[in-house]
Amino acid sequence: MANGDNVILEVKNLKKYFKIGNKDILKAVDDVSFAIKEGETLGLVGESGCGKTTCGRTVIGLYDKTDGEILYNGKPIDGLKGKEKKQFNKEVQIIFQDPYASLNPRMTVADIISEGIDIHGLAKSKADKDKRVYELLEHVGLNKEHANRFVHEFSGGQRQRIGIARALAVEPKFILCDEPISALDVSIQAQIANLLIKLQNELGLTYLFIAHDLSMVKHISDRVAVMYLGSMVELAESEVLFNNPKHPYTEALMSAIPIADPDIEENRSRIMLEGDVPSPINTPKGCKFQGRCSKCMQICKTEEPEFKEIEKGHYVACHLY
Ligand code: SF4
Repeated sequence: MANGDNVILEVKNLKKYFKIGNKDILKAVDDVSFAIKEGETLGLVGESGCGKTTCGRTVIGLYDKTDGEILYNGKPIDGLKGKEKKQFNKEVQIIFQDPYASLNPRMTVADIISEGIDIHGLAKSKADKDKRVYELLEHVGLNKEHANRFVHEFSGGQRQRIGIARALAVEPKFILCDEPISALDVSIQAQIANLLIKLQNELGLTYLFIAHDLSMVKHISDRVAVMYLGSMVELAESEVLFNNPKHPYTEALMSAIPIADPDIEENRSRIMLEGDVPSPINTPKGCKFQGRCSKCMQICKTEEPEFKEIEKGHYVACHLY
């Protein structure tokens, strides 16, 4: 839950374009603005190819932005230097989607976790470092005996716990959770999501949680933002977005979430989305969702809808509002 209204990360008109060949431009993130309050979880959802991962990685400085502003505690991240830059690199961490690919198979678990402790000089001695590693392992549901083993000896869920311990080792404040549960078995997903919630409550962490599984995003997020073809189309408190989606794209995404009650599931109507997300190269004029929207009007074909606040804290980019 957010700690008051302290904004930790603010993104203004962010653009991240990639040049493809000689003349094509891929607009992966196209004029996106949002803010994240300290201690909250902002979920970022959308189909694959919508730009959510590029957006997340750009806001933490893993990719250079094309345009716009990214402010961390009120300071532009591209202006950070020396000590401030090192502090940013310590406070802002990432948990990757694929624990198999993100952990070095030749390092022991202890070495993986203690790398950041060494870089940032967070342990006074070898004994102090070992103690911290054991504490971190316990914090994520593993134990001391796991420290000297190698990654291939662990299950997918355990590997993700190691990835989480590695992120926590440097005492972060902000974590980009980049689809951290998508690659895991369904039975393990809830365990890892609950671990992230527990750690947030204990340590006051702030998360930007990227996912395409909407039911999990609802479970973990305070607010949710929906991206489509590089643009943010809707942003609201989690309950509001799930109970009262406004954008036709969000409505379609929500209607596709399975409901546990078979009676409700059988009788409710689904909005079928035709086709995939179109290519973000040479996007159409006007609303980017026009080709898949059943409510498309004439104005949608010529004017891009503005992302605006239609109720307190509820933002939508659609000409219907
Ligand atoms: Fe549909 Fe028009 Fe709204 Fe776009 S702006 S989502 S095309 S109604």
